[in-house]
Amino acid sequence: MNFTPTKPALTGETLDSLTARLQERGEPAFRAVQILEWLYKKRVTSWDQMTNLSKPLRTWLAETFDLMPADLVLNKHSEDVTDKLLLELRDRSLIETVIIRAPQDGVGLDHSRKTICISTQVGCAMACVFCASGLAGLKRDLSAGEIVAQLLQVCYCEDARTPRARTELASFDNIVVMGMGEPLANYDNLIRALTILNAEWGLNFGARRITISTSGLVPKILKLAEEPLGFRLAISLHGATDDVREKIMPVNKAFPLAKLLPAVKTFSEKHGRMITLEFILIEDVNDSLEQAQKLRDIARDLHAHVNLIPYNTVEGLPWKRPSITRQERFADVLRAARISVTLRREKGHDIAAACGQLRLKTEKERELSAIA
Ligand code: SAH
Repeated sequence: MNFTPTKPALTGETLDSLTARLQERGEPAFRAVQILEWLYKKRVTSWDQMTNLSKPLRTWLAETFDLMPADLVLNKHSEDVTDKLLLELRDRSLIETVIIRAPQDGVGLDHSRKTICISTQVGCAMACVFCASGLAGLKRDLSAGEIVAQLLQVCYCEDARTPRARTELASFDNIVVMGMGEPLANYDNLIRALTILNAEWGLNFGARRITISTSGLVPKILKLAEEPLGFRLAISLHGATDDVREKIMPVNKAFPLAKLLPAVKTFSEKHGRMITLEFILIEDVNDSLEQAQKLRDIARDLHAHVNLIPYNTVEGLPWKRPSITRQERFADVLRAARISVTLRREKGHDIAAACGQLRLKTEKERELSAIA
């Protein structure tokens, strides 16, 4: 099911792997450092811009590596708070990357804090009943290079909007792995990509500003707890009891709450950082006060932050978001117990949560134009 491109992506190489490849060709070790500096710090988009390399070396590099394995096909700007980038990969697969702008302090009007939501798979196998990404199932995993490429594409867009004060810096503040796909089902490529983003020779981006969101793959959560880089964890809970969760998330059959919650506890004790429980509010499915009370107990036990997300409707799916009154009533149960809770309001988050929809729409349009 995985796609093997004709040339490996430069964005999937580590300093070690690139050095080894260049040494096979008789190049000195510092060449790899120079190339990665052009890629991640100076952010050039063609080999010819790497002016401290000889012409024959540039020619060889162009024949050997794909500098950027994802092309930007659409940048959908919305009310100044989000940009949705639609990227096309070498096999014509489409993925989405979202830029969410928010005020630095959470309340102002500046919208200068940028969170990037990235995808890890084309489609998704988890089949959560409310989600657009899983509607057509899983097409394939993204390679490490395709995951990293999303962040570089964001940098290209952002650098064009606001030139960087310091050229070596990333152009955003946080990364959330909450786009299309189940990140922990593509574990090795995900960790390789995040390691590249974190490395000094890469984007030099702090692991503590990277949040991985999972639908609850227990063995992988335990594995993640052992990783040396301390990434943050968010759990898509969406049901505070097995009967509710199982109805909307098939993964709960393999990993019910009795397995999931202890694994999350192990993770948070290891890291000593608050984890986040995500809870989409869907009318008459999981928005009862009883669910709120159960969620409160789980959050208290895990010392977790709770993110309540009013459901974002998906074309073709029957689910609805509850009224604001009902959302507030649910949140009040948690607030009364002094649980740290946010109830999302901003538009950008809605759009980001609906990751997968832009791709779905474009795929549909492609199918229609193929028929016409
Ligand atoms: N597979 C991972 C990450 C991708 S989904 C996970 O499950 O966490 C990112 C988040 O968006 C998840 O919490 C997911 O449940 C949520 N989501 C999916 N469809 C949504 C919708 N229509 N409205 C609101 N949130 C949605």
